[in-house]
Amino acid sequence: MIRANEDYGKLPGSYLFSTIAKKVAAFSEANPDKKIIRLGIGDVTQPLCPAVIEALHKAVDEMGKAETFRGYAPDLGYAFLRETIAEKVFRPLGTDIAADEIFVSDGAKSDSANIQEIFAGKTKIAVCDPVYPVYVDSNVMAGRTGTYDAATGLWSDVIYMPCTADNGFSPELPKEVPDLIYLCFPNNPTGAMITKPQLQEWVDYANRNKAVIIYDAAYEAYIHEEGLPHSIYECEGARTCAIELRSFSKNAGFTGTRLGYTVIPKDLKDADGVSLHSLWARRHGTKFNGAPYIVQRAGEAVYSEEGQKQTKEQIEYYMRNARTIYEGLAGAGFTVSGGVNAPYIWMKTPDGMSSWDFFDYLLEKANVVGTPGSGFGPSGEGYFRLTAFGTYENSVEAMERIRKM
Ligand SMILES: *Cc1c(COP(=O)(O)O)cnc(C)c1O
Repeated sequence: MIRANEDYGKLPGSYLFSTIAKKVAAFSEANPDKKIIRLGIGDVTQPLCPAVIEALHKAVDEMGKAETFRGYAPDLGYAFLRETIAEKVFRPLGTDIAADEIFVSDGAKSDSANIQEIFAGKTKIAVCDPVYPVYVDSNVMAGRTGTYDAATGLWSDVIYMPCTADNGFSPELPKEVPDLIYLCFPNNPTGAMITKPQLQEWVDYANRNKAVIIYDAAYEAYIHEEGLPHSIYECEGARTCAIELRSFSKNAGFTGTRLGYTVIPKDLKDADGVSLHSLWARRHGTKFNGAPYIVQRAGEAVYSEEGQKQTKEQIEYYMRNARTIYEGLAGAGFTVSGGVNAPYIWMKTPDGMSSWDFFDYLLEKANVVGTPGSGFGPSGEGYFRLTAFGTYENSVEAMERIRKM
């Protein structure tokens, strides 16, 4: 008799963004004349840049000719892209990541969800709180998280590392030692960044305890301040303890085009000396059939001189929105953080309002949609996330409305 995977059945409630969508749809139906400004979901709005479009067209034409047609892509990625990434991303940072340590995929969401498969069933995970929901949910699906407490929103077998105003939204080294540590900087949802000495502490901690760090660097391109780490491999010893996730989604607007990659150094072994690089290669070979040729050519074009210039302009556009939102909120008397090295602004709700109460209040009074901090974890309660991915005009207008609230 067939039975569904009972671990999937443990996932609590409905997905955060579908709850938001329902609330917004209901408000919009009741108030058809009101113009809603959406600063909620973390999706880009600028079109793909000309260098990427040109590369896409060229690759499409190649696919239509017998001489240049391509079938299955190599499942770890085309050499032209892996070599470009090694040379244009990792070498300038002074790191020695080689092309064959880069695994091309269709994005960082699936990699961040799938990477847990190469670790033992009893692996103890640690996550920041608040956190990008995929890390925990994928471990719930793998039956690794124990029982859920609906009152606290916590899983019994997960180590939570609160990121609050008290620690500058940067997690402290946990007392109970985890096996697998998820870190994301620049951070979604808080917009916080980590310094290189702080990240070095994590690398030393992981090496000392034979733990592995999954470092999600999806927002690396938004780092604006000097001296901050763009890759965990800038830290000494990271090759023996860290996996890095990267994505073209936020760097180059590929959310709908789909491209990302995961770095696993050959020096990364488990406690018995098993190569995690080999396991991930094996996993890719069995469960993934390669990102599309056309899209990999588009990804290569991001690193051309034109591509770099054009994608930087897009990021500058979003970061101008981030400044507008940050200054608008601060000027209106709110307590704000993030928004300097990340496209996310993290604000404290006023007067001790709950995250969801403030969501309703903002929708009602200013017709602006954001994301309740509690949707990212219990330590997000009392906070609210706004994104810089809208248009400049809408970012300005949203701040005018909020000021008048
Ligand atoms: C958007 C995002 C990603 C990237 O996801 P893709 O699947 O590459 O689009 C990864 N991690 C975090 C934290 C994100 O917010």
